Amino acid sequence: MAESSPMIEQYRRIKKEYREMVLFFRLGDFYEMFAEDALEVSSLLNLTLTSRNGLPMCGVPYHASRSYIARLLRLGKKIAICEQLTEPGRGRGLIERQVVEVITPGTTVDDDFLEKGAANYLAALAQYGTFFSFAYIDISTADFWATSFPSEGAEERIRREIERVQPKEIIVQESLLESHRYVQESILERPGLVVNRWADWLFDLDRSRKRLEQQFGTANLKAFNLLDKSPEIISAGVLLVYIDDTARSVLPHLKQLHRYGDEEFVGIDEASQKNLELVRNMRDGDVHFSLVEVMDHTKTSMGRRLLYWRILHPIRNVMAIEKRLSMVEMLYHRQDLLSKIREYLSHASDLERLASRLAMDKAHGKDLVALRTSLSVFENLSQLLKECQIPSEYGDAPDNTALQKLIALKNELEQAILDDPSILLTEGNLIRPGYSKELDELQNLKNNGRQMLEAYLEEERQITGINTLKIKYNRLIGYYFEVTKSNLSLVPPHFIRRQGVVGGERYTTDRLAALEAEINGASDRIIELEKKLFLEIRQRAKTLINELGAAGRRMAELDVCQSLARAATAYGWTRPQVTYEQKLHIIEGRHPVVEAHLPRGEFIPNDIILDTKGIAFALITGPNMAGKSTYLRQTALITLMAQIGSFVPAREAHIGIVDKIFCRVGASDNVARGESTFLVEMNETANILHGATTQSLVIMDEVGRGTGTNDGLSIAWAVCEELLEHIQCRTLFATHYHELSRIEHPRLANRSMEVLEQDGRILFLRKLKEGATEESYGLFVAQLAGLPERVLTRAAQIMDRLRRQESELKIQLATMTLPLPETLQKSSAEPPSPDNNVTIIKELLNLDLDRITPLEALARLYTWKENL
Ligand code: ADP
Repeated sequence: MAESSPMIEQYRRIKKEYREMVLFFRLGDFYEMFAEDALEVSSLLNLTLTSRNGLPMCGVPYHASRSYIARLLRLGKKIAICEQLTEPGRGRGLIERQVVEVITPGTTVDDDFLEKGAANYLAALAQYGTFFSFAYIDISTADFWATSFPSEGAEERIRREIERVQPKEIIVQESLLESHRYVQESILERPGLVVNRWADWLFDLDRSRKRLEQQFGTANLKAFNLLDKSPEIISAGVLLVYIDDTARSVLPHLKQLHRYGDEEFVGIDEASQKNLELVRNMRDGDVHFSLVEVMDHTKTSMGRRLLYWRILHPIRNVMAIEKRLSMVEMLYHRQDLLSKIREYLSHASDLERLASRLAMDKAHGKDLVALRTSLSVFENLSQLLKECQIPSEYGDAPDNTALQKLIALKNELEQAILDDPSILLTEGNLIRPGYSKELDELQNLKNNGRQMLEAYLEEERQITGINTLKIKYNRLIGYYFEVTKSNLSLVPPHFIRRQGVVGGERYTTDRLAALEAEINGASDRIIELEKKLFLEIRQRAKTLINELGAAGRRMAELDVCQSLARAATAYGWTRPQVTYEQKLHIIEGRHPVVEAHLPRGEFIPNDIILDTKGIAFALITGPNMAGKSTYLRQTALITLMAQIGSFVPAREAHIGIVDKIFCRVGASDNVARGESTFLVEMNETANILHGATTQSLVIMDEVGRGTGTNDGLSIAWAVCEELLEHIQCRTLFATHYHELSRIEHPRLANRSMEVLEQDGRILFLRKLKEGATEESYGLFVAQLAGLPERVLTRAAQIMDRLRRQESELKIQLATMTLPLPETLQKSSAEPPSPDNNVTIIKELLNLDLDRITPLEALARLYTWKENL
């Protein structure tokens, strides 16, 4: 057991209050961690573990602590910084210590701890009556959102929101975690997400509402589309309460809460977000080979954040989409303007985050320089903005008076702040010469001390007539006059003797002492005055945070717009026509990501024409590697891109707005959830069948692959029927079950990926053609893969036999009422009779089990059961 000391006692006392955080305990030049903290952090950060009084201990140097804190935050840790409040002195006993700052991944606004182009969200999830309340906020940009949805069937919605928002930290109502397995799964099991479990009573509607009203300075929340009992209020208010407690920062820049509903954005469920690889790839979660990688030509972090946001939130309003598209088109046609905007933007800093730091009194000298540069970029851009009439979606752009104020601020910053100022306020080096007369004089004093001494020396030489008079300096007595022995008789009365030396005497004067004090004092006074001036300027800048925030958002919008125009230019994308008609009409569409990674011109374009009034369902067959998945995904991506407001990779595209996109691609293992591939696949399929509407776009690739052929085929068949008959949405369905191409339905079209057979090898043309594939070409692929000849020959025999059996079973869907396949239908029409049982037994005895296909067996079972 560790032995106790007063300091360790103090540590324990403080640690008790910050149990779920890593406590950085200041000890001289180090932050030390003890006990469990030390064990955990030493292994996380690879620090040497030592011990003190038998207690495990590890530490990081104070001056390098930020990089360690940043790493811990990224690993999902919360950190409490405990400082020494009194100077260590002899015999004064224990140094006072106190936690002065709590840093958590979701509440930090420090640039060193934030990812540049990514939002940093803190989220909250709560239940209110029969509703769930979900809100999230990025305090580094004052981006604040809230929504609610019925708790019944909330699983899909919660998973979708969390996947889309990617919060760094979340506050969850305890009972929700305990009572819903999917809440646990989607929150507790998410790597790197910091979870704050809060007791239910902390989620209080009244308290939340009051906190919000106080924040916005309003008597109610009507301006934010919220009624007194809107469920959104609970989680939104809790976020602010948590920030009060944790970051202890006031948020004067937080003026907006966006309430959103499910109908605003295209619904993309968790699996589809992943499958479509919108912002990260499926392989390693990196941005490479994702949609955002090809779309992102932004020049600023704020632009990049907005682009990410838009990609994850495609919209459903044709007018709004058209607005965005027109803007992209304008820049697309004016490449000169486009390059000018790109050039300007490349000099801008993150104005949104700067404005937030300013609002929280956390902006330092370099921030103000960045602010100044960004403002001058904004000034340059605003002229262009005016010309271009760029539509703004987040409130009004700064008007003329606002712009004038911002320009005035920029001018002041230019005059006041040095180009390369200190970050600390305690070392001077902030204010530019010429800004303050008082400061200039002090600087003069400091810099010209030598000269002033020289001038004074000259003066005294004149007065005394001692030509060899000198001013010297030593540490003990400071500045002094030295008079040689031969001149001692000339020493005037105002010389005050300080010291005798071998060659003469040393004197000071009141004036010399004053000069000395002035020179030494100047440095301190400079530091003080610079700090005062800096804080005044910062305070004045702070009065403009609303204007600054608006300017930042405006630049972000412009950046996204130019990024899309740039991508359209680079990849030859075209403006889609977007309407509310339920069709999808893409001529020579390409996959934006696959194309970008192939040599130019090698991607084979393909068309898709779907219309819920005509053919809405394309069944696509073709061997592996033929290009089915690529074709499916490109259709989904083109649709999404259009609804983001981007040009699309196609010669021509008419996109009828979709309300949701479902993309079920491949049987990806979901080991993390510990479920079988098949179960995951069925879960996702169920999700589609429950969630899809006539307005949705459904992309399904190889559904049923995770199970035996028989079940797989039956399920795939039934899913097709459901989509065709009941949901009636636009659907692309790729399968290797050729049997499915026998479905006959006026709304279904059979398509296949063309493949050529040449000298016993196959050539993938990657061109879509009408009709289904007859061959599976699996054997060719097997051959390509180098399976031994003997195995291939045997496989060919088996396939031949299977095919003969299959042709005996004719499954047909004759009419729109979708009856059971023919063989199942026939006998069910006959009334059951006792004779039937005999017939059944006879049939059973005659059955050649080696020659019957699984489907046929199933069909027989049906028939028999009906006739029993
Ligand atoms: P499938 O789903 O039929 O197995 P994929 O869509 O995965 O086939 O495509 C296989 C490979 O073919 C991909 O890696 C891709 O690089 C290439 N490919 C697919 N479609 C095209 C196309 N239209 N043009 C050029 N290459 C393509």
